[in-house]
Amino acid sequence: VVTAEAADLLIVHAGELATLARGGTPRTGPALSDPDVIGDGAVAVAASRITAVGPTDTIRRQVAVTPATRIVDASGRLVTPGLVDAHTHLLFAGHRAHEFELRVRGAGYAEILAAGGGILTTVRATRDASEDDLVEIGKARLDRMLAHGTTTAEAKSGYGLTPADELKILRAVARLDRAHPVDLVPTFLGAHAVPAEHRADPEAYIREVCEVMLPAVARERLAVFCDVFCEHGVFSVEQAQRILTAAAGLGLGLKIHADQLSASGGARLAADLGALSADHLEHAPDDALRAMASRGVTAGLLPGATFFLFQPRYADARTMIALGIPVALATDFNPGSSPTLSMQMAIALACVAMKLRPAEALSAATINAAHAIGRAGEVGSLEPGKRADLVVWGIGSVAELPLHFGTNMADIVIKSGRIVLDRIGGRV
Ligand SMILES: [Zn+2]
Repeated sequence: VVTAEAADLLIVHAGELATLARGGTPRTGPALSDPDVIGDGAVAVAASRITAVGPTDTIRRQVAVTPATRIVDASGRLVTPGLVDAHTHLLFAGHRAHEFELRVRGAGYAEILAAGGGILTTVRATRDASEDDLVEIGKARLDRMLAHGTTTAEAKSGYGLTPADELKILRAVARLDRAHPVDLVPTFLGAHAVPAEHRADPEAYIREVCEVMLPAVARERLAVFCDVFCEHGVFSVEQAQRILTAAAGLGLGLKIHADQLSASGGARLAADLGALSADHLEHAPDDALRAMASRGVTAGLLPGATFFLFQPRYADARTMIALGIPVALATDFNPGSSPTLSMQMAIALACVAMKLRPAEALSAATINAAHAIGRAGEVGSLEPGKRADLVVWGIGSVAELPLHFGTNMADIVIKSGRIVLDRIGGRV
């Protein structure tokens, strides 16, 4: 059988083609550690979409090629879906090198925030930046993400904390989504911190989030999700519930920064509200995890933040997996607690510190991450009809993915059927 459509791009002879097939539901249990690998695999692409996936000899027989078809010989290499980063704070200005050194000298993250630093340092710099500035900053960051194999990412606001500045960030995200190959899923995080000018009356800020910011975000369709930093000293469970209930009423999906620094009730709230994901979870109690399992709430694992905050207690991913909770992986890219743009680093940390198997980490970084941001119909697995987002790796197997931590092993990155990065050169 020859498909009607000739291939624009044909990737052949992948040593391991990890398809993450059957992507209709998040992978849990045994499926989490089985990424549906095809040996000597091939993928055909036409007009930015995947048209066929299978063993190279089968695809060669099925798919018409023309002189214009670009053929990539992936002999001996691992090929996977483009990575999906399910939790990033993509847009902010400045950096926090000074506070990093304070933390190295022993200061705590919450202590720096309480003294007006931390998130609030970045809020001041981001308020001073224009929308155009943020677009330029964002382009450079997205270039680096793409170079490390990330083809879709969630992007949160949360460093503006005024109506004008939160909208400025989300408008910049929308422009970047149109202007850059990496696809972005926007999340409103106005409840990231109480800004300094509202310290004396946090309730007034929460009213502004619910009554001014959220309606404006919904009216301009600037966000798909609403997130809240639910933590002692930041937003309480009751405050988070009010904000998220208002967001749900406006049609936004729900996410929560939950139980990161203490057992503060976020995971339980995520289950009660039927949030799509609860992220962090370093201190989530077992009964809250069981509630998440019963409601099908995805756990967003952010090992980069635990690592970079020098904290000994990582989220208990093995218990989550045993309970059947879908786990997704993300960088949590942000200037304070996880300034990495590399999902490869997140994969390595998840394996080393959370004891994920490499195949589980790959599932969490692709199809499960896509489910966690509502994009699994488009990306996250290699299946006919999906967007042709792929990575050809400088390694031969899924098992090798965490081995080269800190080293970029993405050799060819393909976004929507277009080769956007090629480190192999002569071999293509
Ligand atoms: Zn975060």
